[in-house]
Amino acid sequence: MKFRKEGNCFIVKLEPGDEVIASLKKFCEEQNVKSGFVQGIGGASECVLGAFDGKTKKYAEKTFHGNFIEILSLAGDVTETGPHLHAVIGGHDFACSGGHVISMTIGVTAELFLFPSEAIPRELDPRFDLKLMKL
Ligand SMILES: [Zn+2]
Repeated sequence: MKFRKEGNCFIVKLEPGDEVIASLKKFCEEQNVKSGFVQGIGGASECVLGAFDGKTKKYAEKTFHGNFIEILSLAGDVTETGPHLHAVIGGHDFACSGGHVISMTIGVTAELFLFPSEAIPRELDPRFDLKLMKL
């Protein structure tokens, strides 16, 4: 991983083999980023996406493999519970899939822009068994 700070924005470049959630969590801990907004693109070698089911309160999961998975859009936030990212990915058939990022391993690179904000707490919402933003 490499990064540069431009004003209040961190520009983060991930390398092949880096797992996005773990890398971003470690980066935020090291840079003392409590919360913020994340936007990025890149190429992955493996990606596990989830789709939340409000009735079962669980994620359906699907794993994507490939020698190159286009990360068409990676967006989300960082809060006290760590990164919460969603992604739209595509492949050589030009079809898209998307969902909640459970894990994503970089195949080529990820180019991320992280805009820090004040710390945003989360609280458990018993309706979904999810820790949602407390505003
Ligand atoms: Zn999500």
